[in-house]
Amino acid sequence: MDRFVDMILSEKKEYLNRIKKQVDAHHEIVIYGAGVCGKNLAKLLLDVGVTPRAFCVSNPDRNRKQEWGIPIRSLSDVIQEKRDDVYLIAAEPPKNESMIHTLNDYEISAYIDITPHFLQIVDPVYLRPIIEITSRVGCKVNCRYCPQNLFIKKYRSSMRPLVTSFETFQTCLDHLPQDVVLDFAGFAEPFLNPQIVDMMEYAVERGHNLRLYTTLIGASGKDLERVLKIPFLSVVLHLPDKKKCANIPITGEYLWMLESCLSAVKEDGQPFIDHANAQCEPPQEILDRIKGRVRVSWDMIDWAGNIDTQEVRSSELKNGSLLCAMAARQNHNILLPDGSLLLCCMDWGMEYILGNLMKENYKDIVQGKAINEVRMAMLERKTRSHNFLCKSCTSAVEIF
Ligand code: SF4
Repeated sequence: MDRFVDMILSEKKEYLNRIKKQVDAHHEIVIYGAGVCGKNLAKLLLDVGVTPRAFCVSNPDRNRKQEWGIPIRSLSDVIQEKRDDVYLIAAEPPKNESMIHTLNDYEISAYIDITPHFLQIVDPVYLRPIIEITSRVGCKVNCRYCPQNLFIKKYRSSMRPLVTSFETFQTCLDHLPQDVVLDFAGFAEPFLNPQIVDMMEYAVERGHNLRLYTTLIGASGKDLERVLKIPFLSVVLHLPDKKKCANIPITGEYLWMLESCLSAVKEDGQPFIDHANAQCEPPQEILDRIKGRVRVSWDMIDWAGNIDTQEVRSSELKNGSLLCAMAARQNHNILLPDGSLLLCCMDWGMEYILGNLMKENYKDIVQGKAINEVRMAMLERKTRSHNFLCKSCTSAVEIF
């Protein structure tokens, strides 16, 4: 697997060198796109001493006014100001292609397109081990595009605890190295577990970096007060939507919590909420509140074929050797309330249980037989079964 890591690192070096050459030739840098990719790219550039002049976007109303002091402006305004900037495309394929067409329409040819593994080279945690905490089984948010029932049926087919207890969480953390990033996300809304904030605070005490993905359903005002003090690497808020695909009632209490999150800032002065998304367009009332304060997007997937509808993005069956766009070493896993560690967030049918953190060390699990079989199957077309999960996953990339 390490050859993929080497490949990503050398691609990153080459990409940054191309940008630095432009800076050395006295061109200023504009990042085209201010979503997750654009923000990750800006952070990467700032870390290597390059300060972009601006972000540019097609719809400034869906974005904040600035990030780290870098203004977010409309493309036409940025182009009108200056003609000798170099534009860095910052969006997933195929959106990058339409952005290049737009630049061509403005007769701009000085741009650098995304590299084959652009999302991975700008992602600050792609090469780090990540575990998503599924702290309960069953979720009352009941999103329309979520294979919840498949997971509940499979998990409950044998006697297992339905909620992660604090003690279980402690034992699992005892078996984890400190560099594992913990995502409070997984297969259910984190705040539906009444001890979740204790777990978050305990994980920070143990030296872990955390990320949070939440609808806020289940959180109390007191929870929120504590949560806003936790130094998350990033926070993604899942919002209500016009079609009520997600059961997130817009009550007075909800709006108060939303406002508290939107007004909060992290230690570095950046907003507490990094990004917001929804199952489809949020109601106007919500859009009006978040306008200019957090970027919102909507793009649903079929969870590697685990939901069957044309309404979401899916993947053609992939038959080549595969790289996981979420983790080159297959180490972005899911922890369940009984300590089981699943392959990834696509494995709602629990087909790939890698081990159990209640009784095994993480290092043994990630070097174990189950995960190595997945790694082999990703590489070797011949050895994998016809219904191998990664083949139909939107996060699988064919490499040869
Ligand atoms: S199913 Fe998708 S996310 Fe999971 S390991 Fe395979 S490629 Fe990665």
